[in-house]
Amino acid sequence: MYTKGEQCSARVSHDDWGHTHQCERRAVVEQDGKAYCKVHDPEYIKTKDAERTAKWDKEWAEKGAYQELQNTAVRACKSINPNNPLAVAQSITDFYEALKAMLKDQNSALARDKGRKALAKVDSPSAL
Ligand SMILES: [Zn+2]
Repeated sequence: MYTKGEQCSARVSHDDWGHTHQCERRAVVEQDGKAYCKVHDPEYIKTKDAERTAKWDKEWAEKGAYQELQNTAVRACKSINPNNPLAVAQSITDFYEALKAMLKDQNSALARDKGRKALAKVDSPSAL
């Protein structure tokens, strides 16, 4: 059992040559017969590592999902106009609105006009 006010038993490196010294903080817990400060408490370190790993895993998953969305969107745009997939991407909103309007009112000249404009943009050769 560690005594109150005892020094932390962890070794801390203090240069790039692998030299270490004993941590100067006061111990607050004991693990496997050794006294540790709050920062070097093996349980605390384990918890911190697990939190860090979980955060990284989450970030990787989000990055992966975003990458998948991009790949899917690019593939879809290329399949419609391989020469100008960007025009397709830029017209998706127009198409969506035009299609919605057309389905609501099949005689809507405005919707047909919007649809034609979007289609003209998409079928245009590469703007690059
Ligand atoms: Zn310490």
